Amino acid sequence: MIRLHVPPLEPADAHEVNSVLDSGFLVQGARVAEFEQAFAKQVGVAHAVAVTNCTAALHLALLALDVRPGDLVPVTTYSWLATANVIELCGAQPVFIDITADTQSMDPARLAETLKRLMANDETRRRVRAVLPVHAFGQMADMPALLEITGRYGLPVVEDAACAMGAGMAGKSAGAWGVMGCFSFHPRKAITTGEGGMLSTDDPVLVRRLRALRNHGLDPDSATLDFVLPGMNCRMTEFQAALGLAQLRRFDAILAQRRALAARYDAMLHETPVRPPVHVNGRTPVYQSYVVQLPNHAAPRRAEIIASLKSHGIETTIGTWHMPMTTYYRTRYGYRPGDFPVTDQVFQSSLTLPLHHRLSEADQREVVSRLLQECER
Ligand SMILES: *Cc1c(COP(=O)(O)O)cnc(C)c1O
Repeated sequence: MIRLHVPPLEPADAHEVNSVLDSGFLVQGARVAEFEQAFAKQVGVAHAVAVTNCTAALHLALLALDVRPGDLVPVTTYSWLATANVIELCGAQPVFIDITADTQSMDPARLAETLKRLMANDETRRRVRAVLPVHAFGQMADMPALLEITGRYGLPVVEDAACAMGAGMAGKSAGAWGVMGCFSFHPRKAITTGEGGMLSTDDPVLVRRLRALRNHGLDPDSATLDFVLPGMNCRMTEFQAALGLAQLRRFDAILAQRRALAARYDAMLHETPVRPPVHVNGRTPVYQSYVVQLPNHAAPRRAEIIASLKSHGIETTIGTWHMPMTTYYRTRYGYRPGDFPVTDQVFQSSLTLPLHHRLSEADQREVVSRLLQECER
C-alpha cells in the first residue's frame, strides 16, 4: 500500500521517549519548556505554549481573547471542523468567509465586505470579537491583506496554522502574523507527538492567560499557588515534548524532503488535466498535504476514484471540509449550495495524494499514472 502519510519517526526517537519514562517526571516539565523555546525560535515569536492538541490551542486562543456567548467570529469556510467548532463551543457564532481558488484560504475581498456590513450596524459591531483564517494545507493565507482589513477595525486575528509550521511570506512565518498562532502535532502533520498542539504569541498578557487557561487557571507567575481564572487541563506530556524536540532538530531536512517530493509531483502533473496546487509568488508552502484539483468531468466521480485507487494499493483522500455544508452548520444556519461558490467548487474537486519520506520516485509515478487513467474513464 502506498500510504497517504507516514510520520517521520526514527529508531533513535524511542530513546528520547524512554529517557523521559525513566526519569519518572511525565507532565509539563523541563522537556515541554525546552520544546516551547525551540518552537518559539522556529516561528520567530517571543513565546510558545504547548497544549494537548491544536483544537485545544484554538479553543484557548478564543478564551484568552474573551470570546463569549453571542459574539461573532469571521472564519474561513474550508477547513477541518475544529476551526469552526471552537467558536460554537465558546457559545459564539462563526461568520463563514469564502476562500480564493488559488490559496484555498480566506478571501480578503469577502472578509472586507462582511466586516463592512457587520461594523456598519450597532448591534453586530459590538459582537465581532476576532477573525480566524486558516493556512490551508500549509499554504499561507494572504496575511498582509487580511491584517490590513482587520486593522481598520482593531480586530485581533488568530491564525489556524495547524498545517503551516515552516510556511511563510515576506520573511515572516505562519503563526507570527496574528496575535496568536495555533499549531498541530497530529500524526498527519509534518512533525508529530501523537496528539499535541502549540500556541505562538508575542503578547506577554496573552501568554500569561494561555498558561493559566491550560492548567486549571493557576497563575503561572505567582510564587504561591493562586487560581486566577476558570481554566482547563490542556497540558502536554514530557514524552510528547521529547518526541517533538527530536523531530524539530531534523525539521529543515523533513521540510526540504516534502518540498522536493511536491516539486516532483508538480513536474509529473505538468500539462495533464489534473491541476497541482497553485504556487503564489513570494509565499513558501510546506505541503502538509499535496492537494490536486480533478478535471471537471472527473470531479463528480471522486469517491469512485478514491475507492479504485485504494483497490490498486494507493491511499488518497478528499482535501478538507466545506464546513458550512456539514449537517450541523447547514441545519443550524440554513446554508445552501451557492452561498460559498468558490468553496463549493474547490471542495468537490480536491484530492490529496500520498506524501511522506518513504515515498519513492517509482511510487509517485505509479500514483500519477493510475490517477490519470482514472480521470480518463
Ligand atoms: C489538524 C487540524 C486541526 C486540529 O488539530 P488537532 O491537533 O488534531 O486538534 C485544526 N485545524 C486544521 C486546519 C487542521 O488541519
